[in-house]
Amino acid sequence: MSQRSMVALKETYRSMSPSQFFYEYKEIAGFSNPARSLYQTVRELVENALDATDVYGIKPDISIVIERIPGTNQYRITVEDNGIGINPDYVPNAFGQVLFSSKYKLRQSRGRFGLGVKMAVLYGQITTGKPVEVYTSPIGSKRVYYFKIKIDIEKNKPIILEKASWSKRGNWHGTRVTVTIVGDWSRARSRVHEYIRRTAIVAPYARITMIDPDGNIVYYPRIVDKVPRGPREVKPHPHGVDIELLKQLIKSSKARTLKEFLIEAFQSVGRKTAENFLKEAQLDPNIDPHTLTDEQLEYLARKLREYKRFRAPSADALSPLGPEIIEAGLKSILKPEFVVAVTRKPKAYEGHPFIVEVGIAYGGEIPALDEPLLLRYANKIPLLYDEKSDVAWKVVNPQNFDWKQYLVSFPAPIAVLTHICSTKVPYKGIGKESVADVPEIEHELRMALREAARKLRAYLLEKKREEEAKRRVITFLKYTPEVVKSLTTILKGDGVNEENIREMLIKVMRKRIKVDNELFEKLVKNLKVSIEE
Ligand code: ADP
Ligand code: MG
Repeated sequence: MSQRSMVALKETYRSMSPSQFFYEYKEIAGFSNPARSLYQTVRELVENALDATDVYGIKPDISIVIERIPGTNQYRITVEDNGIGINPDYVPNAFGQVLFSSKYKLRQSRGRFGLGVKMAVLYGQITTGKPVEVYTSPIGSKRVYYFKIKIDIEKNKPIILEKASWSKRGNWHGTRVTVTIVGDWSRARSRVHEYIRRTAIVAPYARITMIDPDGNIVYYPRIVDKVPRGPREVKPHPHGVDIELLKQLIKSSKARTLKEFLIEAFQSVGRKTAENFLKEAQLDPNIDPHTLTDEQLEYLARKLREYKRFRAPSADALSPLGPEIIEAGLKSILKPEFVVAVTRKPKAYEGHPFIVEVGIAYGGEIPALDEPLLLRYANKIPLLYDEKSDVAWKVVNPQNFDWKQYLVSFPAPIAVLTHICSTKVPYKGIGKESVADVPEIEHELRMALREAARKLRAYLLEKKREEEAKRRVITFLKYTPEVVKSLTTILKGDGVNEENIREMLIKVMRKRIKVDNELFEKLVKNLKVSIEE
C-alpha cells in the first residue's frame, strides 16, 4: 500500500459548532470583505432595532452612529432603538450564541435565522478583538442592563466579560448595541446610505438618524403617524408539514386522539374539517397520535399536504405595508410626480402565507434610466445585492414585462417597489439578498405589477390629454384678441361688443377641445393671465 492511501485510511472525525461553521464560512452570511461587512453590520443592527419596535406597534426612533477609530481601519457601529428591550437573562445568548433567537416563530419578522447580530459580533471579534457592548432596558423594567460579550467560537457559547445594572431615571426603554469591526467606509458609503434611504421609504412611521464617519448627519423624519398592524403568531398550516414537523408537534401535544391533535396543532382545521379529512384519508380519528409509526407519519404528512379542502393559510401572521405607507414613503423620498401602490390579497405556497405589494413612482425627480429603478423588499428589509437573480427583477425586467402597453418606453423616469412578506421568504442565501422564483410568488408579483401599471397608464393618458388640450388652448388664446377685435368691427351694432364675441368664441372652443369644463376654465384662466403678462 502506498504512503498516500495509508494517510487517507487514517481519517479523523470531529464535529463543528455553528459558531465555528459561520466563522469559517462568513461569506455566505454577507461578511465577505471589509466594505461588505460594514454594510452587513449596519443592516443587521438596524433590522433588529426595527423588529423590536414596529412589530410591537411602537413607532421606531432609531439612531445609527458609525465612527472611525482614528488612525485605523476599525469602525465602531452603534445602533440605538426605543424597542421592547431584551430580558437580561437572554442577552448573553442573544449576542453570543449563533442560532439563538426569539424569532423562531410563525410570524413575519425581519430576522429569522438567529444569526445576524452574532455574525457582526464574530466578525468584530476576529478582526479587531473587541467585544460587543449592549445596553438594554426592557419595557416596564426599572433598570438598565449593560453587557460586554464575546463568543467562544469552539463551544458556541457567550463569554461575559463585563456585566452591570443600575436603576433607571426617566422611562427610556430599548436597546443600544455597539460592535467594532474592520471596515472600509469609502467603499461601503454609498450602499450604507442607500440602505438607510430605502429603509426609510418603507418605514415612513419611523424617525431615523445616522451620523457617518465623514461627519454627515442624515435625518429621516417621521411623516406617517400610524404603524402598520403588527403580525400575530400562528400555528402551522397542514399544507406545510413534513414528518419531522409532525413529530415535533405530536411530542409537544397532550392530545389523546388524532382528531383532537389535528384541531389543536394546526390552523385552518376545525372539528368538521378534521372529521372530513380523516374520513377521506381513511385514518382512525381515535388513534393516539403518540403511537404512530414512521410509516404512518409519512402517510399522514402526505395526506395533509394533498388534502384540498383546508382553508388557505391565515394572513394574521403577516404585516404588509399597505398602499398608503408605500405611497407616502415613495413620495417623500423619491419626489415623483405620480405614485400608486397595490397590496394583493394573501396567497400561499407550500403552506406558507405570503402577500405581495407593488408601488410605482413616476416622473418628478426620478432620473430617466434604461430600465426601471427597482426597489426590492422582503419582510420590510431592503435588498440591495444580487438584483438580477431576484424574482422581482425577472418580473419587472422590460424583456419580460410589456411596459409599452402601459405607455412607458425606456429611458423612462420610473421606480418600481416590490415587497414580499411571508412567514417564510424563500431567500436564495443566508445573506438575505435575493428571493427565489417560487411560481406562486412570481405570479402574484406579475399581477400586482399589472394592476399598478394600469393605474400609471390611466394617469399618463390623462396627462397626455391635458397637454394636448393645453397646446390648443394656448393657440386659441394667442389669436383671440385679434379675432375678437376683427369680429367686433365686422358685426358692429345690434348690441354686439367684444365681451359677447369673446364669450361666444370660448363656447365654440370649449366644444372643440375635448376636456371637461373645469379643466378648460382652469387652462383659460391660467393661460390668459400668463399670456397677458
Ligand atoms: P434574529 O434577528 O434572526 O433573531 P439575531 O442574531 O440578529 O437573530 O438576534 C438574536 C436575538 O436577539 C433576536 O431574536 C432578539 O430576540 C434579540 N435582539 C437583538 N437585537 C435586539 C434589539 N435591538 N432589541 C430587542 N431584541 C434584540
Ligand atoms: Mg437579526
